[in-house]
Amino acid sequence: MTNVQFLHGLKTIGGNIMAVTTATSRVICDFGLTGPAIAPDQIDQAIASHDLPALPEIFHGEADAFAHEAIFISHLHLDHTGALPLIKSDIPVYVSQKTYDLYQVLLANGMAQPFSVQLHVLPFNQPLAIGDLSVTGLPSDHDVVGAMALLISDGLHTFGYSGDVRWHGPHPERVAKWVQVFKQRQLDLLMLEGTSFSFPDEADDQPHPARTEHEIAATLKAIAAANQTDLIAITLYARNVDRMIRFDQILRDANRTMVWEIPYARVIHTFAPDLPLTVLRETDDHQPLPNHWQVVGLAALQAAPERFVLQNDFRHLEWLALFNQVTYLHSNGEPLGDYNPRYKQLQDFLTTHHFHFERLAASGHAKQEDLVKIAQMVAAQCTIPWHSFHPELEAQAIEAAHAKTHVYLPQLNEKLLF
Ligand SMILES: [Zn+2]
Ligand SMILES: [Zn+2]
Repeated sequence: MTNVQFLHGLKTIGGNIMAVTTATSRVICDFGLTGPAIAPDQIDQAIASHDLPALPEIFHGEADAFAHEAIFISHLHLDHTGALPLIKSDIPVYVSQKTYDLYQVLLANGMAQPFSVQLHVLPFNQPLAIGDLSVTGLPSDHDVVGAMALLISDGLHTFGYSGDVRWHGPHPERVAKWVQVFKQRQLDLLMLEGTSFSFPDEADDQPHPARTEHEIAATLKAIAAANQTDLIAITLYARNVDRMIRFDQILRDANRTMVWEIPYARVIHTFAPDLPLTVLRETDDHQPLPNHWQVVGLAALQAAPERFVLQNDFRHLEWLALFNQVTYLHSNGEPLGDYNPRYKQLQDFLTTHHFHFERLAASGHAKQEDLVKIAQMVAAQCTIPWHSFHPELEAQAIEAAHAKTHVYLPQLNEKLLF
């Protein structure tokens, strides 16, 4: 008998953790937190208050009933990885190759918290046996490099796990492919994220559909062409490597030089080693730089601001005060929004200096209609919406579309038997 258990994150954005279990084997998908970090001495309390999944044996390094078990991480976001640093057991943790590479470069540059776990690579499209279960990672599209969907099978039943996904990103073919694979495998269960169903009140005052990576790239191109006076500054998200590479290329074509802070450049270099990046001298980390990189200082940018675009981490916001005119593009970098007190600091700074602010953001999560489309196309026996503040709205939308699937909203720690 196989069971699927929902251990965390049924009605939150992220923190979703599920386990597929047989008599001898256990596969756990994702291991995130939704709240603040938890100290090791608060583990039992956090399990009791449901802030951590009820897996004390993993947190305390105690023996359990499973001869074979592993954790699979769909992508490198805190809401999918935040509990990893609390693991005490030697349970192997699998990620995609790109997630592994991203983690290593972020760690080396002080941009990620370390996990002291047994981290392994799960190559895409190759089933890995965990006792009598098997797990396959399928490349997907999200706003972090290396994201994957997961397919788990016990030989008789098949369970699909969407991870976080969007169908309006730069790689829609990846999503189309795993949706097709899920459909062909005639899933017993599809666990489907539902982030875009989280904010029903806001949906009404957003007449414009979510912007795509393609659209924001085109907007950047237009801004760079139209603006012949300002320094353009951009705050970017270092884990959205596709976007960083695309922006660098667009600006190169527009005869503006993108100037990267060195830690961000090292992330890009991991995935695009041939790109001849230009980096900012003031962010020197005293490690050797690739020969084909250029180094410029802020003084060069001050001399000809219209020739450059500066990637600006919030920690270095003050550097922008060196310039008379700045167009500040907010492209999903930190601070992300109002909920972060630093966002007001950013806005105050820009207002004080009379700098122009423009949002250049695209969501990492599928639009509502795309989530419904995924549920319809996969047509699993049962679809479970989660990773949303309102999974019931996603459930209603799937039902309203007459998708050939039964929609179910499980309870915390509920076990579905197969
Ligand atoms: Zn998430
Ligand atoms: Zn995510």
